[in-house]
Amino acid sequence: MHEMSYVIRLVNKALQAAETEGLGSVFEIHADIGKMTGVLPYYMQKYYKKAIEGTILENSRLIINEVAVKARCGSCSFEYEPDAAHDYLCPACGSGNCRIIAGREMTLTQIKGT
Ligand SMILES: [Zn+2]
Repeated sequence: MHEMSYVIRLVNKALQAAETEGLGSVFEIHADIGKMTGVLPYYMQKYYKKAIEGTILENSRLIINEVAVKARCGSCSFEYEPDAAHDYLCPACGSGNCRIIAGREMTLTQIKGT
């Protein structure tokens, strides 16, 4: 399952962060998840509950912040949200020479615990 591998990576990051911050138990973690990952929050939540069983994250909540896909045009530096209706081309100059600058990431942004 696609989401399961993301959940495991996220849980591992959270466990590391909890250790670094000296937390004994965690009640909430926040994550930025780019839309380009194709990850569905519903499944993330479902697998998260399983993945945290028996860890210090048990009973914690996962708060997902979905990050839109963003591209920067290589020709005119315009930043935009690529969409299929425009063949993912730059709306400012029509160039297809773009770089994805957001939307592929999965970042642990916050961890709350005691
Ligand atoms: Zn452009």
